[in-house]
Amino acid sequence: MSRSASRTVRSIGPPGFLPTTAEELRQQGYAQLDVLIVTGDAYVDHPAFGPVLIARFLESKGYRVGLVAQPDWRSIRDVSRLGRPRLFVGVSAGNLDSMLNKLTAQRKVRSEDQFSPGGRPGLRPNRASVVYSNLCRQAFPGLPIVLGGIEASLRRIAHYDYWSDQVRRSILLDAKADLLVFGMGERAAWEIARRLDAGEPIGALRDVPGTAHVLNRPEQWQPLAETASSELRSAALVLLPSYEAVVRSKVDFAHMTRLFERETSALDGRRMMQIHGQQALVLNAPSKPLSEAEMDALYALPFRRLPHPSYAPSRIPAYETIKHSVVILRGCFGGCSFCSIGAHEGRFVQSRSEASVLAELRSLGRLESYRGVVTDLGGPTANMYRMRCREPRAEAACRRPSCLFPKTCSRLGTDHGPLIALMRAARSAPGVKRVFVASGIRVDLAERSPEYVQELARHHVGGQLSVAPEHGDAGVLRLMRKPELGCYERFARAFAEASTAANKEQYLVPYFITGHPGSSFEDTVELALALKAHNLRPREVQDFIPTPLSVATAMYHTGLDPTTRKPVTVARELRDKRLLKALLYWWDPSQHARVREALRRAGRTDLIGTGPRALVPASKGPGRGTRS
Ligand code: SF4
Repeated sequence: MSRSASRTVRSIGPPGFLPTTAEELRQQGYAQLDVLIVTGDAYVDHPAFGPVLIARFLESKGYRVGLVAQPDWRSIRDVSRLGRPRLFVGVSAGNLDSMLNKLTAQRKVRSEDQFSPGGRPGLRPNRASVVYSNLCRQAFPGLPIVLGGIEASLRRIAHYDYWSDQVRRSILLDAKADLLVFGMGERAAWEIARRLDAGEPIGALRDVPGTAHVLNRPEQWQPLAETASSELRSAALVLLPSYEAVVRSKVDFAHMTRLFERETSALDGRRMMQIHGQQALVLNAPSKPLSEAEMDALYALPFRRLPHPSYAPSRIPAYETIKHSVVILRGCFGGCSFCSIGAHEGRFVQSRSEASVLAELRSLGRLESYRGVVTDLGGPTANMYRMRCREPRAEAACRRPSCLFPKTCSRLGTDHGPLIALMRAARSAPGVKRVFVASGIRVDLAERSPEYVQELARHHVGGQLSVAPEHGDAGVLRLMRKPELGCYERFARAFAEASTAANKEQYLVPYFITGHPGSSFEDTVELALALKAHNLRPREVQDFIPTPLSVATAMYHTGLDPTTRKPVTVARELRDKRLLKALLYWWDPSQHARVREALRRAGRTDLIGTGPRALVPASKGPGRGTRS
């Protein structure tokens, strides 16, 4: 019999936590869960942990939801410990792609897993979505399996995998799950639960927005393929180049990236299909963004904001970072080519109301560790709060991947007023002593509001503000879809003036990406020289990581800009990537041997020695190089 989605929800497990063991389930007198969530992260009952957010959301809709975190993947014992759920099992690798979580840009194993107790590595398998999915298939034969989370979302079509240096097929085919939920999954997860609960078989759920499924036989997808188009503007179904085509041809891979990004950037994005051999992957249109009321309801769910008590005394590093922070929005219309937020959270910013944010600030007071200092009031980009296109019809038809690049769209509403009001209200809230903004800000937006820069500098910076020029070369910045360097410099001046006016000594900390497609030894040397001339010693430098599905990753793999199809320089060798990063550490003696090598590669030995422009001293002799 179908259970009503509106029945009263009882809190189960240790007070306020979702059940994680059979004993916790029994304590509540429940024989069976409706939905089981399996995640690669430790269980932290906090809205910043995606699988937990979905679990709490389904619970609020009346379903009994349990959670198995970081199961042993060598047997089915852990995933089976709460028994077979009635409706489905939801599988997620956790908050990060499992390969990115494990390996660095140099393909070395990371020493710490930020999402595990004690930061312990090795508690989740490589390609966790695939492994957990197959495990659940063994444990619960015939039960619907639904993939979700960032790893599944960003590997939903054929994609380049940096860690194996291969084009892989859609993760849904490898995981052999029934459905894949992409993007922010609340609406899709709820519709799946509702329809399964009403008795529909999983095979009938082919039309849920924000999900993908596989058609296994050509006779199932051929009629659809005949109605599709691989052109940008025609047909209701977009046919992406096939998996075989994008493996074979870099031009096809670049074209796939362009088509996919355009549809993903649209409010009314169309369905897409991609043929993989005899099978076809079908991506339904994305879920609609949440309204402010829906966002508020999500953050009002009864999160304990704590790790599960079973981890004590171990700490979970990612939780320690965010435990006193508050998210005010999701989504980003920046469209930076190295970032996948647009492909996952969407280009349309969804904001919470001021009342909702203030309620969450009050709830921080229940934490023993909280001393009235809010470490971040932010989101993917802190200063996009309540910003959107001012023309709904234009917004509905728009397929631009960025509202800010190549220049800020004249239709974009850039009023910082609501954000300034929120910042003021937050720091005047009872029990709040300080409110910092630690999330990234867009300087091209910020420079439109001197009042915002003054407010930020006067009240919300704790001595240093990290801001991303990312690079200094105009060509590289264009490929990154970042504003020109002059924009950063104007912001830096405005920030310095505002800090002086507030009688505060505080600094910008610029951060950079080296090895981004388009960047070479020559332009990175120029960047190092410019920084030296400004007396700046960068400490936040990231070696570019080609993460699945980003536009910059497509550039890295194909050597082409997907938008223009023009060739792009790519540093592919790990050694080259290491040397490029070292160039921005010219001031660090431990990097001097690498810097000298990089300068030789750039043909700039004039910068080795003692002259006024020299970046590094000459080597003191053979055999003193830095080991790599
Ligand atoms: S602001 Fe401009 S780029 Fe952004 S959705 Fe509106 S029309 Fe498109």
